[in-house]
Amino acid sequence: MTARAHFDDYAAFNQSPPYEDVDLFSSDVPLVQAVQANGGSGESAALSDFGQRWGSAEVFALGRVANENPPKLHAFDALGFRSDTIEFHPAYHQLMRESIAAGIHASTWNESGKHAAPPSEVVRAARFYMTAQVETGHLCPITMTRAALAALAAAPELAGKIAPKVLSRTYDADFRPWWEKSGLTLGMGMTERQGGTDVRANTTKAIPVGDGYSVSGEKWFFSAPMGDAFLVLAQAPGGLTCFLMPRFRPDGSVNGLRLQRLKDKLGNRSNASSEVEFVDAFVWRIGDEGAGIRTILQMVQLTRIDCAIASAGLMRMALAQAVHHCRYRKVFQKHLLEQPMMRAVLADMALDLEGAMALVMRVCRALDRASSDPHEAAYGRLMTPVAKYWICKSAPAFIFEAMECLGGNGYVEESILPRHYREAPVNAIWEGSGNVMCLDVLRALRHEEEATCYESLSRSTAALDGAAPALDAVNEANAPALVGQLALMASVAELKASAPQAIVEAFARTRLGLRHGPLYGAHDLEASTVDLLLQRVLPAR
Ligand SMILES: Cc1cc2nc3c(=O)[nH]c(=O)nc-3n(C[C@H](O)[C@H](O)[C@H](O)COP(=O)(O)OP(=O)(O)OC[C@H]3O[C@@H](n4cnc5c(N)ncnc54)[C@H](O)[C@@H]3O)c2cc1C
Repeated sequence: MTARAHFDDYAAFNQSPPYEDVDLFSSDVPLVQAVQANGGSGESAALSDFGQRWGSAEVFALGRVANENPPKLHAFDALGFRSDTIEFHPAYHQLMRESIAAGIHASTWNESGKHAAPPSEVVRAARFYMTAQVETGHLCPITMTRAALAALAAAPELAGKIAPKVLSRTYDADFRPWWEKSGLTLGMGMTERQGGTDVRANTTKAIPVGDGYSVSGEKWFFSAPMGDAFLVLAQAPGGLTCFLMPRFRPDGSVNGLRLQRLKDKLGNRSNASSEVEFVDAFVWRIGDEGAGIRTILQMVQLTRIDCAIASAGLMRMALAQAVHHCRYRKVFQKHLLEQPMMRAVLADMALDLEGAMALVMRVCRALDRASSDPHEAAYGRLMTPVAKYWICKSAPAFIFEAMECLGGNGYVEESILPRHYREAPVNAIWEGSGNVMCLDVLRALRHEEEATCYESLSRSTAALDGAAPALDAVNEANAPALVGQLALMASVAELKASAPQAIVEAFARTRLGLRHGPLYGAHDLEASTVDLLLQRVLPAR
């Protein structure tokens, strides 16, 4: 708990106490119920332990300090030799250590590199969501590490050697060859200067040499470059191919990655995102030559759902801060939380977050079951881009609204909200930007199983307000409307399993029926529904 000096008593008059030393799990009813509804109820006690740790003042401080002290690139040493290393603040390393100890980087995989048994996705998502509430920059290497194992399955022999070290719960930040380390992190390099969406335009070249290939070229965005190995795309003789590029060559020498500079980013400042040149870098092939996009997409589907979970986490922290503040702050002799208009705004926001939580957890349940159930696999393929599109796009405006609920206090840097506000857009932009997600949904809907998912969602929400658009009326230009509606339909369908009926009806009436006002608080929610939503956000302390 942040201690306040005695002489601060007057200054603290009518200010809220810091929102810290909270249990980020048990105090979040929609999260608890969504985890239960998707098969994770047996993990409640462990998730509550995790929620208490990540809700502690100590971990909040780590998040702040890691962002106030962004990483530094050391391209050269004092004598002018290449160094190509990055120095992080100890707070960043501590966040990495904690997330890896909790398994967020790998707990959905088992020792044989196969998907761990359900509800591993749901339980990990709950942890990822809580972590994102406090610090998201370090989650970039965490999400890439866990997702990379999906693509490595295309090279089982190599995966068999590397995966056990990735599954380790030890964070090992030393700059040494991977085989000497007690734990590994993995990254990804696809985006080049001339195109991130259109990776077919990649010009990086791979030439077969000995047991692997030699890669030369550059990547324009290359995050977490202190990882131990990276999935990269490069043009091999047989076409665009996926490779694994270790930081050290098999002979123990440093591999040919030249870190040119770090991006000066709007947010996400604790994380290092570099521009890199590859100079005859050694790589192993992952999957067939020419199958690069198909292979790396196995990874990208997982990082995409993490974008949606992280955005929901940012929204959750913003809403919790707003409700907490309004519970203590009085204006015109009444707490803000008793003012009808403020209640309407906060409840309206809470309703959006109820939908987002229900949707991401449902997608995670589908990923949990995908290997044994084709319908669930199709649901996961269809709804991952839907969830990424809708939730990541919703987050910036949502966080702004929460900031305004705190008045001027929400706008100052000591508050967590400016950092979360700056962070929010990146989840929509990277790993496939908004329009690209809509194109992905259109592509998915051309498959029979995915189209069946759409039809069954329409049926399950048919009795509620708002019609699902007919699929044959959908084209590229109007795809965002379809994807938004699909997100809302799926949210309603899932809220039925995890939330009280009043919330299902309010969500359907105000969102699905397309009568949602343009701004929060702009439409009528029944007083009893407002009460219910606000109780579920945060119990009174
Ligand atoms: C902080 C940060 C870290 C990153 N880290 C990495 C990393 O580690 N590894 C990596 O490989 N990449 C990384 N990226 C890159 C990121 O994934 C790309 O920026 C993203 O995929 C978009 O590619 P682009 O920037 O080339 O934009 P473009 O591909 O030029 O797209 C620009 C816009 O056009 C839209 N668009 C594209 N095609 C269409 C279409 N057919 N119809 C309509 N609209 C379309 C897109 O939605 C987007 O809004 C990172 C980016 C950021 C911001």
